[in-house]
Amino acid sequence: MQHVKPGAWYHVVLPEADDFGIWRDQARRLVQAEVPPDRVTWDAPGGGDGSLFSAGAGADRRLPAPRADAPLVRSSRAFLNLAGKAALHSDPERFALLYRLLWRLQTRPQLLDDAADADVIKLETLARVVRRDIHKMRAFVRFRAVIEPDGTDGAGTERYVAWFEPSHHILRANARFFVDRFAAMRWSILTPRGSLHWDGETLSEGPPAQRGDAPAGDPAEDLWRRYYASTFNPARLKIGAMLKEMPRKYWKNMPEAALIPALVAGAQAREAAMVAAGENRFEGSDRPGSLAEVTTHIAACTRCAIGCNGTRAVAGEGPVRAQLMILGEQPGDTEEVEGRPFVGPAGQLLDHYLAQAGIDRGAAYVTNAVKHFKFEQRGKRRLHKTPTAGEIDMCRWWLEAETALVKPRHVLALGASAARALLGRSPSIARERGKPIDLGPDGFGGTRQGWITVHPSYLLRLSDGAREIEATRFAADLALVAEAIQRPV
Ligand code: URA
Repeated sequence: MQHVKPGAWYHVVLPEADDFGIWRDQARRLVQAEVPPDRVTWDAPGGGDGSLFSAGAGADRRLPAPRADAPLVRSSRAFLNLAGKAALHSDPERFALLYRLLWRLQTRPQLLDDAADADVIKLETLARVVRRDIHKMRAFVRFRAVIEPDGTDGAGTERYVAWFEPSHHILRANARFFVDRFAAMRWSILTPRGSLHWDGETLSEGPPAQRGDAPAGDPAEDLWRRYYASTFNPARLKIGAMLKEMPRKYWKNMPEAALIPALVAGAQAREAAMVAAGENRFEGSDRPGSLAEVTTHIAACTRCAIGCNGTRAVAGEGPVRAQLMILGEQPGDTEEVEGRPFVGPAGQLLDHYLAQAGIDRGAAYVTNAVKHFKFEQRGKRRLHKTPTAGEIDMCRWWLEAETALVKPRHVLALGASAARALLGRSPSIARERGKPIDLGPDGFGGTRQGWITVHPSYLLRLSDGAREIEATRFAADLALVAEAIQRPV
């Protein structure tokens, strides 16, 4: 080990473009050796810091030893969090910026509170851009099935392969998300920065790939294209917001995006036609053929942000030809853990009122408008968050598939989200509860009837007096449904 030489400068080469851990170790050591930021240059695969010394020529690559009496290096959790994200940015100066900030933090521990400081602004910008890139990858990766020969019975094994072009070094940072999300699938994600491969048990990394290494399309994409076309609502078209959420650069890898230019161009005409027709329901013929297929597909659904949040999808349950479908909003915390709908506190209350009304829950098909749990993390708790109308509409594809398979004569929607999913609009529960709503043909020559009422969790939130009144109305709504089910067809 050598000690810092007067006037010397140092060149640090990081082995990987996203190696924040090694940067942190080296940076601490340089701070303790009192090497100021203008005497250090940083390099990593894919580009160094672009400064005068960036090639490292003439620099010392052996770092100086910290002084024996050097104080501990000061940083903060907030800095490490932001720096860990900013380190994944492809800006060649990111490591130099981080070192300059770490250096300055030694004499100004509150530096991050200075919202006007140029280094702090840059740090926050880089971290924000990286977080966005991470989110975009989670939302826009599209897998395509390929059959790999497995050398046994010749039937081959299915692997799902995706091509994605991240803007920053986020591949490894996203690996855990995809492993948790698609644990039961064998998959590969290929990118120009490297690749990830999951075989159901082990994750491995591979070299950078090219677009041609990934398959170009599969038959399921037609289905998604048709679904996207049917849920694309020209009346709500906001091109700026759409481009912000789904930037053009991702379109080429998303089957549904091929339709966007034509849909946007035809939006006015379609809006007029929709208004004339008075509805916007999907009438696709290529729906999943069984409830088991629905269950498999929802587990891999990433069509909206909730599907990408890493929770498990909760499928509906009950007999495939149930007379009654009971529709909730979305699984809650307990439901997500147990993988079954309505098994938590709201489910227990529902069971109580169903039994009181004489409705056999076991004979009903119980499902939710949205198949994943939307929540906000508060410490260790996951607090329910209401899905947006867009998320509910996106998930209607699955509900319509379930309805087409179960063919219930009656559908009972609990709460506003379920009512929206049932009717494709946001009705007033107060006005429309307590009477059947015509849902069109039931597939058996009759008419399917919809019923809407409040959600049982609404009752749980009320004070005692108000709960008593609302519970009586809820029980009366269920009694009407019970009576309708018993009426001969
Ligand atoms: N709330 C719902 O809407 N659905 C469930 O499955 C559980 C709670």
